[in-house]
Amino acid sequence: MRVFGRNRVSTYLLIGLGEDPDKLVAAARHLIALGVYPFVVPYRPLVGALGRGDGIPAPSHELVADITDRVARELQRAGMRGSDQEAGCAACGACSALSSVGG
Ligand code: SF4
Repeated sequence: MRVFGRNRVSTYLLIGLGEDPDKLVAAARHLIALGVYPFVVPYRPLVGALGRGDGIPAPSHELVADITDRVARELQRAGMRGSDQEAGCAACGACSALSSVGG
């Protein structure tokens, strides 16, 4: 952030690995305060992935929607949008529903 500036850095936060949703949203809030875009993405148990082999299911739609909505509201409050990034996953946006709910 110090090198690239506010809303020029993003980081993946995976939903669905057993985390506490409130702690994930709090972590996202902390990242936003630092100027880092928290790109929340559901874990996907793809064929061949270790998690799938261990029988870890994808997170529920309700959990993904809840966290995505809450993080999007935090981003809106801070005036940060993925579309304002110039590169990386937040600029692409394909793996998260954040941009569809205003994040
Ligand atoms: S498709 Fe887009 S959001 Fe997903 S990993 Fe690739 S660059 Fe990132």
